[in-house]
Amino acid sequence: MKTSGTNLEHARAHNRRVIIEAIRLHGELTRAELARLTALTPQTVSNIVAELEQAGLLTSRQPRKQGRGQPAIPVTLNPASAFSIGIHLDHQTLLIVLVDLTGDVHFRRLILVQKPQPDATLARIAGELAAIRQQLGAGWQKVLGIGVVMPGPFGVEGISSSGPTTLHGWEEVDIAARLAEMSQLPVTLENDATVAAIGERFHGVARQLNSFIYLYIGTGLGAGILMDGHVYSGAAHNSGEIGHVVVEPGGRACYCGNHGCLERYVSLQAAYEFCGLDPMTALPEDLLQVDAACFDRWIDTVLTPLRQAINMLECIFDAESVIIGGMMPPVLLDKIIQRLPPLYQSVRGRYLTGTRLKTGMTGSDTAALGAAALPIFDEFNPQFQVLMK
Ligand SMILES: [Zn+2]
Repeated sequence: MKTSGTNLEHARAHNRRVIIEAIRLHGELTRAELARLTALTPQTVSNIVAELEQAGLLTSRQPRKQGRGQPAIPVTLNPASAFSIGIHLDHQTLLIVLVDLTGDVHFRRLILVQKPQPDATLARIAGELAAIRQQLGAGWQKVLGIGVVMPGPFGVEGISSSGPTTLHGWEEVDIAARLAEMSQLPVTLENDATVAAIGERFHGVARQLNSFIYLYIGTGLGAGILMDGHVYSGAAHNSGEIGHVVVEPGGRACYCGNHGCLERYVSLQAAYEFCGLDPMTALPEDLLQVDAACFDRWIDTVLTPLRQAINMLECIFDAESVIIGGMMPPVLLDKIIQRLPPLYQSVRGRYLTGTRLKTGMTGSDTAALGAAALPIFDEFNPQFQVLMK
């Protein structure tokens, strides 16, 4: 068993991320406010702010007059000082976005693909990266990296290795290595649920939360776990595969070999099948066209398994909130969430229902935007060192 220590360089990188996050959250902050909010010493804050200003990531704002003392100078993030690329590959779509440090989108390309195969898909991505490079010009030097999201689980025999929610033909492909070689940038690969959780922490309803679970309704169902501000990935990077928890013994057959798996009830796949769409070709938006009464009957079958999942997650993690989001069109997700109460009692039961459950970002861009946050979120991203020089 191995336990990692924290050396000075790690501590410095961690503190830098804490400061960037605090400023992102509040818009602008003085050094004194930063020291108070982060519990770092004024000297540490001062050093890191100086370093970040030097690198152009922070800019000073108008001094604030305060009493008799020196006016305090707030600092804010400089949006165009760093960029990040997010790539979301799924069964039917390839989406590529470029965001700046504050999350504003500067490039977006949605490409329809059918059962994407590695070589052709990587060639498409290379073409789009070239377009981004051209658009940014010298700004390409400020790209922190690429975040990639694909349906998990990764490298697992048995559970969903042969299911319709994993991408066929990609089992042996090291997409992160191929993209890194192609772009000469650091590349981070994550599953859709984890990425959505990170995106929510950066841009969405989890900005104030340190510990929460993101329940991602995609083709399958997964949970992104953030504990104390850090992603919990598990021993083999497959934590949060809640879709294969059995909620109804002897229930619907699942391709993993079990019967009654949660994602056989709560997933786009389950909705497509219930409403008579072809799961291999249907898009989330197609659910808007199906008979509303049929969709409502599908929701009838979703409520109990979903309540069970929330109950388990709350009791295991004592998270501040469970956020539900993913690729379901927003109006349809709202229908589910509206009918979800009453939730089971749990360790969170003593809190108001409003904070227990939150609606996350949803729709087709969720995962790509979250993926774009990965290189910014990664405090050990070597590109930060490049920018700091
Ligand atoms: Zn299963």
